[in-house]
Amino acid sequence: MSEATIFGQLEIPQTLAAGPGPGNTDPRVLQRFAAAGVADHMQADVLRGMVESKLMLREVMGTSNVYTFGVAGTGWSGLDTLFSAIMPGEKVVVFVNGTFSGIDGLTIRMKAATAEELAANPMDPQPASVTIINVPHGQSVTGELVEQALAEHKPQWAAMAHWETGSGRINDIRGFSDACEKHGVMGLVDAVSSLGVEDFAIDDFPGVAGWASCPQKGICCLPLTYAPVSFTDAYIAKLRKTGTRTFVHHPILEARHWGIVDGKDVEKGVYHRTHSAYAVSAFHEALRITLQQTVEARAKQYAFHEAALRDAVTAMGCKVTSNMTSLVVLNLPDGLAGREQELVQSCRSKGFGIWPTLSAPVQVRIGILNLLNERAITEIVERFAAEMTLMGANIDMETVRAGLERHYASAAAAE
Ligand SMILES: *Cc1c(COP(=O)(O)O)cnc(C)c1O
Repeated sequence: MSEATIFGQLEIPQTLAAGPGPGNTDPRVLQRFAAAGVADHMQADVLRGMVESKLMLREVMGTSNVYTFGVAGTGWSGLDTLFSAIMPGEKVVVFVNGTFSGIDGLTIRMKAATAEELAANPMDPQPASVTIINVPHGQSVTGELVEQALAEHKPQWAAMAHWETGSGRINDIRGFSDACEKHGVMGLVDAVSSLGVEDFAIDDFPGVAGWASCPQKGICCLPLTYAPVSFTDAYIAKLRKTGTRTFVHHPILEARHWGIVDGKDVEKGVYHRTHSAYAVSAFHEALRITLQQTVEARAKQYAFHEAALRDAVTAMGCKVTSNMTSLVVLNLPDGLAGREQELVQSCRSKGFGIWPTLSAPVQVRIGILNLLNERAITEIVERFAAEMTLMGANIDMETVRAGLERHYASAAAAE
């Protein structure tokens, strides 16, 4: 037998995570993660932590949906659970305006495809029952578009991203919900990027039957924890009728471990699969932080700091095309056009984690998840400007800094 290769201990450096996600984990979350004892998934405090998390999550999401809980994993784990009720042959309209809603569309096509349709193109099925409505990169999905498409196609389901992180665009959730309600369609929403960043209550959107988010963006809980999901009684009733071909991501079965059995809260969860005491502790703390800060205050902070960053990169000659408050998506000045990847790679190699867009056109994305203070925003601006300057841009840093100072002085004056 050959000798096993044992690598050195893995060291991962601290970086400035200034991308669309994951965001910067709060130290309090890491502390609770590391402080949890070894305990199995049926230990009383682990189960209590899950029940308390479920109750806090209802507050964060603004809902009285009993079926509100976390799905172990990342955003796609929650979205896979969300889309699980779509059965082969069911009619769906999906609105796509970027990378992530594009993958939502692919997930839905895989679930709605009949066996023949799936076999015909296993990795990229094109079921007759699914209509994809493409909206150009950089534009938002409007309520009028949703209304038109639902009136024309009369589907059973409709799906949309609330905030499309690929292009940094906010879609019209009010228009989506209203159109779904009017046409008797069950709406499904990818709220991966908006939950914990925007101030909204899901119960204000009765046309939406199911929501899914993620742990590591607005909830600031990367240590691989839980993707929040929430379902109305109508969604659960539909699922009870048709069933679905998954055990682990079955909304009704997965909910049991969170103390949701037969549509009711019960005192203690029952086994569905193993849960980590570390993950439960971290998620519980992240929700406590969100509620202590309040979603409303956090949303205001995001809007304020995003405006500072937006103004600064605009003063550097960049053109911002996004309207999300956790993320700035921009075109470089003409002189640097075409060198986006090079710029991003160079920043990343220095521990400054910004991102390009993942689908065409190539743009730069700079995020501020859990970087809500003057020092952090100033560091992002300085490092981005330094990199652009290295590449030959001519930036008037005095003007840029004066703008930042004015922005933050205005906040101090308002306090
Ligand atoms: C980040 C993101 C996802 C994917 O989430 P993962 O945590 O990477 O699984 C899906 N949809 C949207 C809108 C996102 O921003």
